[in-house]
This record gives sequence, C-alpha cells and structure tokens, in this order.
Amino acid sequence: YFLHKPLQVHDLVEMEPEQAHHIQHVMRMKPDEIIRLADGKGHMYYAHVVFRDHKVFACVDEEMEDHTRTPVDMILAQGLIKKEKWDFLLQKSAELGVQRIIPFTSSRTVVKTKDEKVDKKRLRWNKILQEACEQCKRSTLVALDSPKSFAELIKASEDADVKLIAYERADVKSAHVKEVLQKYPAPHKVFIVVGCEGGFSEDEVIQLEEVGFHRVSLGARILRAETAALSLLACISFFYEM
Ligand code: SAM
Repeated sequence: YFLHKPLQVHDLVEMEPEQAHHIQHVMRMKPDEIIRLADGKGHMYYAHVVFRDHKVFACVDEEMEDHTRTPVDMILAQGLIKKEKWDFLLQKSAELGVQRIIPFTSSRTVVKTKDEKVDKKRLRWNKILQEACEQCKRSTLVALDSPKSFAELIKASEDADVKLIAYERADVKSAHVKEVLQKYPAPHKVFIVVGCEGGFSEDEVIQLEEVGFHRVSLGARILRAETAALSLLACISFFYEM
C-alpha cells in the first residue's frame, strides 16, 4: 500500500479509507498480519495491521530492501491515444517500471484535451497508476505530467542522457534499438518518445534529432502506439539488466 508521506520504523499510521476497506473486507486480515507499505519515493517497509476504534492502522516494523527499481530510470513521453488504449498503456508501463509519463500532443493528435477536463482525467489516470504500482509491489509511484505540447516535451527531455524516438521508418538494422543502446553502456536516465495513432511527421522527427534524439526501430512491422511503448520499455530494462 502506498502512503503518501515519509515513514519510519515504529510509526503507527492510519490507512486511507480505500486501503482500510481492502485490508478489512477484501483481504479479511486479522490483527498483526504483515503488510507492505511504500512511501512512493523508493522506500518500502514491513508493517503489521492494528485495528483500533473502528479504524485500521499499520505499525511500521522494518525497512525492506528494494529490488523493484529498474536498472535505469525510464521516462516515457507518449502521444495521447484513445481512452481504453491509454488506460491499458498506463497500467502496463507502471508494471514495466516506468518512472515518469509525459502525455503530449503533436500535429497528428486526434484525442481532444479540453482544459476543464484535464484535471479530472489526471485524477483517474493517477488512480490507475497507483493501483498498478500496488499490484506489482513496486516501491515508487509513477510521476504523471499534465499533457504537454511538442515544444514542452523537448524541454522536458533536457536532462536525460539517452533520448530515443520510436519511429517505424527508422532503419531496421542500423537503428535497431539494440544497436543504439550499445552506444550508452551505463546511462541513468533514458527518455523515450512514442507517437500517437497517426505517428510523427518527418519534420517532428527531425526536430527531435536536432536536440539529441536517436530514431529507433522496433522491427519491420508497424506496431500500435501502446505496443511500441511497452516493447521499448521492456527492451531497455532487458538491455541494461544483462
Ligand atoms: N501512422 C503510422 C503509419 O501508419 O505509418 C504508424 C504510427 S504507430 C501506430 C504509432 C507509434 O508507434 C509511432 O509513432 C512510433 O512511435 C511507434 N512505432 C510503431 N511501430 C514501430 C516500429 N516498428 N518501430 C519503432 N516505432 C514504432
């Protein structure tokens, strides 16, 4: 369970209502049962359940070693895609260990982002991400930006040490993701950009290349946006795990 605050051994913390319901009525836990807590910033703890005054608490017992981080930080800038695909992408990329997701709009974006609806959408998106992080028991939450323009996206990539744009027209051999990653033996932060359903214009690809992005190919078949993003995340963590 994620508690959005710093935790210390011996703390007695009240669980949030949905978490309390889950512990008591879904998992039907008994007093002193062991649960795992995370502060969302990379620290995980064992704790035991305490029921008191019709409320559910957790008493923090000890910090756990964190094996859930990926070997490099992965930031995914993803062109906005239709609702079901977007929700699926959020859930699966959290499982694959992404650190941050930056939704963006570009010249071929079809999904509308009306300002008054964005906050409501982000609440729902954050809920999907938090549930996915809890389900796969990772120690960090996924940071989710508000939708950015193409220019803002370029700015957000400034501090990354590897920058990749997934592009179906990249050369399958010389620009294969494996070939490109070989040039970077030990990066800290890999920033990837994946297009929406309509992909990128050649002009957008050139703009990204001018600020240090490499175009990468994920093979000779054209993948759906969500397939491309998920396979690129999997390729990166596999590559640096070896
Ligand atoms: N509109 C494009 C077309 O039909 O030629 C396809 C866009 S594709 C559905 C969406 C995004 O997935 C692309 O912008 C790209 O980022 C990524 N993508 C799809 N297939 C890829 C491949 N084989 N290699 C690299 N990226 C790919």
